[in-house]
Amino acid sequence: MTSYRIALLPGDGIGPETMAATQIVLDRIVAEFPDIQLDCQSHRAGAELYRETGETLPKNVLDACLDADAVLLSAIGLPDVRQPDGTEVQPTMMVGLRRALNLHSAVRPVKLYPGAPCPLKHTGAGIDFVIIRENLEGLFASFGGGSMVGDEVATDTLVVTRTGTSKVVDYAFQLASRRNGRPRDGKRKVTCVDKANVFRSMAFFRKIFHDVAAKYPEIDHDAVYVDAMSLYMVQNPSDFDVVVMENQFGDILSDLGAGIVGGLGLGPSAEVGDQHALFQPSHGTAPQLAGKNVANPLATILSAGMMLDWLGQTRNDANCIAAAVAVENAVAEVLSHGQVRTPDIGGTSSTTDVAIAVADAIVASVRSDA
Ligand code: ATP
Repeated sequence: MTSYRIALLPGDGIGPETMAATQIVLDRIVAEFPDIQLDCQSHRAGAELYRETGETLPKNVLDACLDADAVLLSAIGLPDVRQPDGTEVQPTMMVGLRRALNLHSAVRPVKLYPGAPCPLKHTGAGIDFVIIRENLEGLFASFGGGSMVGDEVATDTLVVTRTGTSKVVDYAFQLASRRNGRPRDGKRKVTCVDKANVFRSMAFFRKIFHDVAAKYPEIDHDAVYVDAMSLYMVQNPSDFDVVVMENQFGDILSDLGAGIVGGLGLGPSAEVGDQHALFQPSHGTAPQLAGKNVANPLATILSAGMMLDWLGQTRNDANCIAAAVAVENAVAEVLSHGQVRTPDIGGTSSTTDVAIAVADAIVASVRSDA
């Protein structure tokens, strides 16, 4: 039996509810996969804590995250909780956590499950691609910095380094080598998304992309400009397999990606580094839904599935990889049936009902395989 220490950060708003729902699913995973043990420790962090104590991420919680095998976070931040400079606490905490854990690549799957609502009329052969966002540099490198000249001029600097870009591009190619290619024809392909025709930093990003691509001759590659990419994601989403880009571009296109496959309630994400990884839904805290047990827990549940897959890949643990597949299959099953779903995707079920339905689907799928 392998035991993993998981740091849980339920956070604010709907975060604690989607986390509680995910724990129902993880409990069922542990029951169905006796060789996996998850030692989950929950920690307070975020806006409510800041309101009470003036701290978002106490040192002992950061230490627990550094110490854990993986971090599972649901959502952080509340619009009415502000720092003295007027900004919300969420960016400060998340950028700090990413930097402390050295999480260089953010992974945002854009996958349309049968039964999920899709606003596009035509999806070609289907939508199943992954956005890889550089997570420590780009425009976000200026976070907490930048410059102001009186009340007239403000600047932020976009930073692209060879080391950071090589890491994220390499991660993208490694992921492509494990996937089944793009839906249109099964071709494995990594696409660089940039603005290399305008900015020197972006031309450098593309140059490094080509340098790394040369190490993976078996995987196709191409490059598109970010403005064109936002059009292609809507018009030809089945053309893409893995797409890699600068931090701010990834931030924006991830939400567009969530929008074409059913909304934020269905968008999971991972942030990975060489040693650590953090998993969280793409959505925020949706405070107007908090406390009503109506938030969609599937993004957090799918993020927990990505966590199991990452543990399996990095620890060479086939049970964890099988558990990750079971979570994703169970979510797909619940979505395709359509009876149990939260209001954001057209249903009337509660957060807890959806979690129980996913947990039951895990049991059904694992036992039918046995
Ligand atoms: P942040 O800036 O923290 O990322 P945001 O401004 O993008 O937050 P969210 O809290 O992510 O906003 O959500 C925007 C809207 O999407 C919410 O008000 C809510 O209507 C909907 N939404 C987001 N997540 C969910 C969810 N899990 N279930 C149901 N609806 C959701």
